[in-house]
Amino acid sequence: MIVLVVNAGSSSLKSQLIETEGKVCRMKCLAEKVGTDEAYMNVSFAPDFQKVTYNVAGLAVAQCLAKLLDIMSDDPESPISGLGQIDAIGNRIVAGGEYFTKAALIDDEARENLSKCEELAPLHNPAADACIDMMRKLMPETPQVAVFDTAFHTTMPPKAYMYPLPWRYYEQFHIRRYGAHGTSHRYAAQQAANLLGRPLRDLGLITCHLGNGGSITAVNHGKSIDTTMGFTPLEGLMMGTRSGSIDPAIVTYIMREEGKTFDEMDEILNRQSGILGISGVDSDMRDVLDAADAGNERAELAIDMYVYKIQKAIGSYYAAMTRTDAVVMTAGIGENSAKLRERIFAGLAHMGMILDKERNDFTGQIGANRIISIDDSPIRICVVTTDEEMRIARETDNLVSQLR
Ligand code: AMP
Repeated sequence: MIVLVVNAGSSSLKSQLIETEGKVCRMKCLAEKVGTDEAYMNVSFAPDFQKVTYNVAGLAVAQCLAKLLDIMSDDPESPISGLGQIDAIGNRIVAGGEYFTKAALIDDEARENLSKCEELAPLHNPAADACIDMMRKLMPETPQVAVFDTAFHTTMPPKAYMYPLPWRYYEQFHIRRYGAHGTSHRYAAQQAANLLGRPLRDLGLITCHLGNGGSITAVNHGKSIDTTMGFTPLEGLMMGTRSGSIDPAIVTYIMREEGKTFDEMDEILNRQSGILGISGVDSDMRDVLDAADAGNERAELAIDMYVYKIQKAIGSYYAAMTRTDAVVMTAGIGENSAKLRERIFAGLAHMGMILDKERNDFTGQIGANRIISIDDSPIRICVVTTDEEMRIARETDNLVSQLR
């Protein structure tokens, strides 16, 4: 089956065309800084994946997707000769609330329920819904599937997902922890089990998805038992532009002092905080690391805070589980930054997580999953390349095949 995977963010679009039988990717697309004057979209096709960059300034995320369809239809290098060759579309959806506990075919009812989930992930869900609507318009005959980041976390026990608020907020508004990045945590846990050569059901793992967004999950016997993201992807770690967990009283204090509206406060917490807010440099970790190297003290503080919050989260999940066999690092920062991994684990050796400097620094086989702890580290440390798109394509294939 040929599946177009669509992964829409507030200012980005990732897409791949995947042939599920052979697990091969035929097209990759990455649009970034969407909504700004510097917006660009890189598109590349198998076998060489030579990137061609398109200017997408002025376009919204869903319009970038429409442009990608035009490129795939017209480019002689394209692996398909027409859009009719795409069998299904797999959409990554960050929040499925209590409406969706597993991947779902998008019919009218599901589309309506997706709208109700938008406020749970205000940076991501609205962009994904706009892409779904665009595809329903442009390719109405092609089945679309929604694959949810929250689905993996539906195994959390009530003590992990309930908030200590008046009971009626759970009953009336379904306010509870849902988590996110579930597709990535599930995949990272399975890949770590493969690396350790043991069945996932026998393991206690702490999976760390550290990208622009970030979350850490306690995976006990293959099931998520707790995760740092909460009702929305704002809770937990400090992130690129998101504050992560702060004293909730700060929110009401700022609103009162500065007369901020709810939307303005949302914007401050989701888009102006985190690494960007503290460093004043950027939300992109590479730029912040460079600034810190050049002596920027706020950039250095941002990195210090970022590392400290990750260390505390790993420590708390070590306490939450009955055993911890490995800590797994994945996503942009987790996979690529040996420097940050070194800083994180420098503070965790006393818990039995002992990094091997040479293995950590080794970059010869980028993209390869590997163990980076010393041989007799009581708890192993793994690096896993996240492959969300392939997992979404496979889940889409499963669901659409059942329907046929
Ligand atoms: P993701 O959201 O998974 O695409 O990750 C994006 C984040 O990973 C950005 O903050 C990037 O700066 C960061 N990143 C990617 N490569 C590196 C690297 N080599 N060193 C540090 N950060 C990196």
